[in-house]
Amino acid sequence: MYDVVVVGGGPSGATAAMDLARAGKKVAMLDRDGRIKPCGGAIPPRLIADFSIPSSQIVARINTARMVSPSGRHVDIAIEGGFVGMVDRENFDEFLRLRAVGQGAQRVTGTYLRIERSAAGTEVIYRDKASGAEGRLLTRLIIGADGARSNVAKTEVKGGGEIPYVIAYHEIVKAPMAKAAANADYDPTRCDVIYDGRISPDFYGWVFPHGKHASIGMGTGIDGVDLKAATAALRQSAGLAGCETLRREGAPIPLRPLDVWDNGRDVVLAGDAAGVVAPSSGEGIYYAMVGGRVAAAAAHAALASGRGRDLALARKMFMRDHKTVFRVLRQMQDAYYKNDDRRERFVSLCHDLDVQRLTFEAYMNKEMKFSKPLAHLKIGFKNMLHLTGLVKPAYV
Ligand SMILES: Cc1cc2nc3c(=O)[nH]c(=O)nc-3n(C[C@H](O)[C@H](O)[C@H](O)COP(=O)(O)OP(=O)(O)OC[C@H]3O[C@@H](n4cnc5c(N)ncnc54)[C@H](O)[C@@H]3O)c2cc1C
Repeated sequence: MYDVVVVGGGPSGATAAMDLARAGKKVAMLDRDGRIKPCGGAIPPRLIADFSIPSSQIVARINTARMVSPSGRHVDIAIEGGFVGMVDRENFDEFLRLRAVGQGAQRVTGTYLRIERSAAGTEVIYRDKASGAEGRLLTRLIIGADGARSNVAKTEVKGGGEIPYVIAYHEIVKAPMAKAAANADYDPTRCDVIYDGRISPDFYGWVFPHGKHASIGMGTGIDGVDLKAATAALRQSAGLAGCETLRREGAPIPLRPLDVWDNGRDVVLAGDAAGVVAPSSGEGIYYAMVGGRVAAAAAHAALASGRGRDLALARKMFMRDHKTVFRVLRQMQDAYYKNDDRRERFVSLCHDLDVQRLTFEAYMNKEMKFSKPLAHLKIGFKNMLHLTGLVKPAYV
């Protein structure tokens, strides 16, 4: 009998399994294995610090973010006092899984099929990868961390099958490790974020360096957008069209956290399975790991009290810390990702040093600091002028 079966061994599941095993709980981590998660792999310093990520996992350190507007103008934002880390999910996820196993979690490789409840107790049924046979894991609680379009969420939690998504597509290419004349528009220490309706009518495109590789891609929730053509255009403008392509892959990014993450009895969700990705940026790794951590804490509480309703603590703890950032980012996406005029204004707004500080504080350290009321008043005022069209986008 396990205390907890964690379904999924990505950032959320591996974190939950590690925390619970470290606390002395009997944990199984079920993952189907065998597919590298498609991901840009950008992680903030707060994640590196809070989850003790060793520098060996960081394949590139980014010191500038370039925001590109539909008219091709750009704003370079220097990342002061730190860097954005880039990880390769092939190695990063396996590192997290091994770390959980090192703490005592039992790794099970297979595909989750369903949950069965009987007088004998609750069982997670899975297809074992090696033997092909059905396996059963008897458990007191289950954490559903099986990513976007989670099967656990669909069948066990209210609304779990109705999360809206954008589809993100990217290509991993071999990229130059240093700035080169042949790829003058590519800088291996700079992340480019492209706001242009021709690339994505409702999200954005990116060029993210990963040391000897780069991830180039875009996202959209609109049917019929040619993801490959948009990515080809991004590669062309970054000077990476001729580089060898190693992988072409896509996956959904959830757009909205569920209102409920548990079934009040024996299941709680974490990470993409709960729809928890930051609006505007699509950043999900940090929030998945925090989601795994709060799900583990809630499971711990429910095991101690014997009350299934304590699983609701996971969402409560998460929202206490991240609700404001999610709200502001959602408003930003709704206001500025509408059309090219708004995108042009958004990039021009990024010239403002106070806007840069506020957004970078929110990204790097996951805090919205409201300690400078005058600066925020100014940002709010500029915001209003742009949204009402009273000023033209301006660049320095
Ligand atoms: C193209 C793209 C680019 C992105 N770029 C970034 C970025 O740069 N930075 C960032 O922070 N976020 C990014 N994200 C979002 C980020 O990848 C996710 O938010 C994050 O991976 C969520 O972690 P998770 O553990 O919840 O889910 P996942 O990482 O999806 O892990 C789920 C795990 O569950 C397992 N699983 C699924 N179904 C089953 C099953 N039936 N049985 C057994 N196991 C199962 C899978 O094998 C996987 O290991 C990007 C997403 C996409 C699609």
